[in-house]
Amino acid sequence: MDSHSHHNEPDMLSVEEARDRILAMFQPLTPEHVDLLDALGQVLDEDIVSDIKIPPLANSAMDGYAVQYADIVTAGPETPVTLNVDGYIAAGQLPDRPVTKGNAIRIMTGAPIPPGANTVIPFEDTSEYELKNVGMNPMDIDKVDIKLASSLGSNVRPAGQDIEIGEKVLSKGVVLRPGEIGVIASLGRNKVKVIRRPSIAVLATGDELIEPGRPSEEGRIYDSNSYGVCASVVKYGGRPTFLGIAQDNLVSMNSKIEEGFNADMILTSAGVSKGDYDIVKDVLVSRGEIDFWSVRMRPAKPLAFGVLFSDEGKKIPHIGLPGNPVSALVAFEELVRPAILKMMGYKELDKPTVKAILEDDIVNSDGRRVYARAIITNKDGTYYASLTGSQGSNVLTSMVRANGLAICPEDVECMKAGQEVEVQMLDWADGGYSR
Ligand code: AMP
Ligand code: MG
Repeated sequence: MDSHSHHNEPDMLSVEEARDRILAMFQPLTPEHVDLLDALGQVLDEDIVSDIKIPPLANSAMDGYAVQYADIVTAGPETPVTLNVDGYIAAGQLPDRPVTKGNAIRIMTGAPIPPGANTVIPFEDTSEYELKNVGMNPMDIDKVDIKLASSLGSNVRPAGQDIEIGEKVLSKGVVLRPGEIGVIASLGRNKVKVIRRPSIAVLATGDELIEPGRPSEEGRIYDSNSYGVCASVVKYGGRPTFLGIAQDNLVSMNSKIEEGFNADMILTSAGVSKGDYDIVKDVLVSRGEIDFWSVRMRPAKPLAFGVLFSDEGKKIPHIGLPGNPVSALVAFEELVRPAILKMMGYKELDKPTVKAILEDDIVNSDGRRVYARAIITNKDGTYYASLTGSQGSNVLTSMVRANGLAICPEDVECMKAGQEVEVQMLDWADGGYSR
């Protein structure tokens, strides 16, 4: 439980100090070749240089008629130019004849421009529709009226317009989004070299916990932390391995933790607050170099961080998240997320923030940085932040309602409604997540 008694605790770390100490333990991981379809959100570990042109051939941007511009310079609604239709070309076909003077070739979007042609006139600027309306099969059209001069080269996409041969299209270090993935595929590749995803072992601790999926038992609660934490790992690009629930005793903790040593980091939840079941701390200290920290933040003050050693002497960083579900998730956002992103090779480790007008007061009773769960809305271009209601670190539905964390600095005792507040966006309402 949060308490006011530690106001001047000398060993309290600022969020920045905690984050820096954690980040110092992690480095970008090694690269690997992965299927392009699996690479979303990973950091590119090679320069992507094109050995083809995109588009490979000059092609049509519209369904229409490929013509010689000189033939149609005088065309207009009142002065149509009649051309002979000399065939048809669809996307995926190659031209079998040129467009010669006085002729046009019916052409579909994406089809290569036949030699001789330099302009495409879309159907809507021709007699195409009138001819169709009187029942003509478009394949039988042998004469077409051009009713607009358009301009030289219009609706022709030149070869190499997007990408030239030898062009560096993407640089080592970029994060692969759908656009980058598509561009790599457009060059004909289905594999890519990226920094590998970190593997994160997730362990719940507590005698009171039961696994979701099992029948409820009086006096016990379901382990929600592991689910929220594993989901957060996935959200930020890592691969979670769920180790299960350890009981608050030495044998159980030791055996569960031993299964996590193939990972790049072990995350536990609970058992790190003062006066807790000391057994959890004893286990961690006995097999590693673990510090128990108080971080100057609300929620998520208690935190453990250090390294654990396996029975075979393998070493692995460990972050002990607090047990309260909101604390676990907020601590994840502030302290685990940057470590995952650093391992993945990201350079930008901060969450995006916006300035918003507070619609409720935030009271800061004991000099910690408050991450208040807030609902951020945009009214006429201004962001507003209203609190989700009870800010108890056990009220997990506050995270359900929130789309941002409104930050009250540690040295500010109270922020009033109407004041400007910095907000970390948890997510943007862009359709990526629904609420
Ligand atoms: P502790 O730090 O072990 O005292 O836990 C703090 C609070 O978090 C207690 O109310 C626990 O029951 C709760 N808690 C601990 N682990 C979990 C978990 N995995 N899922 C949900 N609540 C938890
Ligand atoms: Mg406990």
